[in-house]
Amino acid sequence: MPNIDLANYWRQQYRQLLTCILLFSILQFNPAFNLFEQSSQYMLAARLLLGVLAVTAALLIANVSWYEYETDKSSNSNIYLIGFSTIALLELMPVLNYAEVSGIWDESSIQRILFFGLICQIFVILALISEIYSLRVNFNKWIAVVLSGVLGIVVIWLSSLQTVFVPQICISGVCSTTTIKFFEYALFSADILLGITFISLAKDRNKKRYFSLATSCLFLAIGELFFVEFQSSPDLLNNFVFGYLFKVISYVVLYQTLFVNAFKDPYTKAKESEEQFRALTGLSSDWFWQQDRNLRFTVISIGISPLINQFLTGKAPWEVAELTSISCDWSEFREQLYRHEPFKDHISKLEYAPGQFYWISSSGTPIFDEFGVMTGYRGVSSDITKRKMTEMEVEFLAFHDPLTGLPNRVMLQDRFEQVKTFCLREKTKLGLLFLDLDHFKKINDSLGHDIGDLLLKEVAKRLEESVRKSDSIARIGGDEFLIIAPGLTKSEDVVQVAEKILDALQRPFYLEDREIYTSTSIGMSIYPDDAETFEVLRKNADMAMYHAKESGRNLYRFFDQKMDEDVSNYMKLRDDLRHAIVRDELCIHYQPQLSLTNGKIVGVEALLRWNHSEMGEIPPDYFIPLAEESGLIVEIGDWVLLEACRQAVEWKNKNLTIMQMGVNLSAAQFKRGDVEQSVLSALKISGLDPEMLELEVTEKMLSDNNIGALDCLKRLRHVGVKISIDDFGTGYSSLAYLKKFNIDKLKIDQSFVKDMIDDANDVAIVRGIIQMAHCLNLVALAEGVESHELLAKLRSFGCDEAQGYDFSRPMISEDFEIFYSQFNHLVSG
Ligand code: C2E
Ligand code: CA
Ligand code: CA
Repeated sequence: MPNIDLANYWRQQYRQLLTCILLFSILQFNPAFNLFEQSSQYMLAARLLLGVLAVTAALLIANVSWYEYETDKSSNSNIYLIGFSTIALLELMPVLNYAEVSGIWDESSIQRILFFGLICQIFVILALISEIYSLRVNFNKWIAVVLSGVLGIVVIWLSSLQTVFVPQICISGVCSTTTIKFFEYALFSADILLGITFISLAKDRNKKRYFSLATSCLFLAIGELFFVEFQSSPDLLNNFVFGYLFKVISYVVLYQTLFVNAFKDPYTKAKESEEQFRALTGLSSDWFWQQDRNLRFTVISIGISPLINQFLTGKAPWEVAELTSISCDWSEFREQLYRHEPFKDHISKLEYAPGQFYWISSSGTPIFDEFGVMTGYRGVSSDITKRKMTEMEVEFLAFHDPLTGLPNRVMLQDRFEQVKTFCLREKTKLGLLFLDLDHFKKINDSLGHDIGDLLLKEVAKRLEESVRKSDSIARIGGDEFLIIAPGLTKSEDVVQVAEKILDALQRPFYLEDREIYTSTSIGMSIYPDDAETFEVLRKNADMAMYHAKESGRNLYRFFDQKMDEDVSNYMKLRDDLRHAIVRDELCIHYQPQLSLTNGKIVGVEALLRWNHSEMGEIPPDYFIPLAEESGLIVEIGDWVLLEACRQAVEWKNKNLTIMQMGVNLSAAQFKRGDVEQSVLSALKISGLDPEMLELEVTEKMLSDNNIGALDCLKRLRHVGVKISIDDFGTGYSSLAYLKKFNIDKLKIDQSFVKDMIDDANDVAIVRGIIQMAHCLNLVALAEGVESHELLAKLRSFGCDEAQGYDFSRPMISEDFEIFYSQFNHLVSG
């Protein structure tokens, strides 16, 4: 917006001003037009013409004000209306009164015409003042017109009276009385003052139209100058006509100003905004529409596709078969429109081709005519297809398993809540089946994840085929599925479902030219017998599934309450074990190993203990399996390794010469952790000589085709670490590995040793093992030696070492140190 000031005024108004000043100069300084003086005929015509022009201009101004008042009730247009209607009437009088005009130069008529002129001037000035002070009268425009009529009549009536109200203008033919001069100068000054005020206010109020109003004032002032000079100059008639001329010009300028303000500006603005609107709608995916009073679309701006027009034009939304209302029913929506309520973000869906949709969001508002009757609706719509698609995708992902497309757990739970009420009403039961594929991990590991994924998809398909339509299936993770089977009359009915599933999954799968077999273990819980809520039912079914696995897989098991208790205890213990290391509840006891040849302590076995804060000491036989299942064994095993190695180094530093530190390893450590790394780092951190570390592994771990474990042990053995076979004799695999694999020691299981006293078979077994060990160049150690008798027997069989309660129970390191020194003292003594 340019700065509005005087310079600006010149720039905008200079043409008009220059023309007028030029005109004024010419008229002033040139000799008078003899034309008028010579022939009053011309004078009359000019007067008449100017009169008509003045009336017309005044009427036009009144007219513009009339319409402006309609659109902007707060404007001062009503004052213009009153003022210029009156002016039009007064200007009309001399024109109409042609006869009188013809005798214009009689004193009374001049007196009246001049009087009317003065009044008109005053009205113009008052109207302009109202503009400056923003005055307004707020009554009906008809009243305004009537009022101006009354005003006009009063003025006309006054003019015919020689009262005090009417100043003496002409005295004996000379119309330049002091009164009239005073009036003319006063008006001239008022015009100039107003003009200056307008120019100076234009900037403050930021109103460009004040410039034109100022110009209009200045023209009025110039006109006034002619009137002042009217009688005194010889150019009497000239001046009268020219004064009139400038007045008309100023009216025209005023009219133009008001017209521009009331119509041209708003029109240009509307046009601009419409163009902007069109440009914007062309760019965006939104479109504008309009409906008639029957709510049929009449106008639809271009929009995303001409298709929209094609489908909707001429129809109400509910008449378009392809258009579906999503936000609410069409009937509900129609009611809303019939109530003439505006609406926002109403969502509908247009099927423009089979299976292909546009999603549309619309907002609209009713249109009313001047009598308040609804003539239709108009509003905007936008294409929200993309947004809707992403929303649907996100929604799908939130409630489905992306691999199989089956519902996920969240959705299944939702279905459960729905079906539950149905079961309650029908007094039927509901079965929840928890499926876990058997050995899926093996398939994944050996054949790759792609085949694993394919298998899961196929399994999902078979499950869908083998259950009823009313059943729901979900994949809830890895190889776990949940199935809801509602409408059971008794709990046992669910067995049919389970059997069908077992059957379906037993058949081979053909994936990428491979024949793959799988099976599943199923746990089942029943609503409402086993639990009321989904979460508990699922937990129960999970437990039952776990039992099915334990019982040999490819089976189903029902949940029962005892299972729950067992599992609850188990779970609690598992959580406690998780914290055992941090809470320092684990410790190691050491059990000495005796050499039967020289009677000395040759080694110890590190045996883990857990001192539970509430339950006291928990035996390793109980918590080691727990640690194995939960994977905690890796962390715990690492801790034992490091702790035992440190202890061995400490003893060595104290000259406590033990040859061997035996540490137990479990199969799970090989599966879940990196045993090699753990052992090497324990040795490195503690600084223990690898030769002093003896890892105890079971037969099973070596014979289980466990290539990884075998390789790992081989490498460790290469470093110098010793390997012994724990619980030897209880494994049921071949002895071939004993030859293949470099081992150092066989630890004969205590079950054989203990019963040697009265079982001849066990004697044979123990003797056999000892002989075999010697043949293979291995050390034989007997475990569980509880008596001197046994010890003597073993010694006579040639057994190398022994370990057992007879000799010593496992004990804490400090006790072992005392034991060691006393024992050595005894031996050497
Ligand atoms: P194991 O490796 O066979 O350990 C020998 C078990 O026999 C120990 O039981 C020991 O206290 C016990 N024992 C020793 N002499 C006699 C005896 O004369 N008579 C009887 N009846 N028992 C005797 P413990 O300490 O309860 O350990 C049980 C099992 O827990 C161990 O069997 C071992 O398999 C496992 N274990 C212990 N500590 C660890 C460990 O740090 N890691 C792993 N993976 N397993 C461990
Ligand atoms: Ca052992
Ligand atoms: Ca053992």
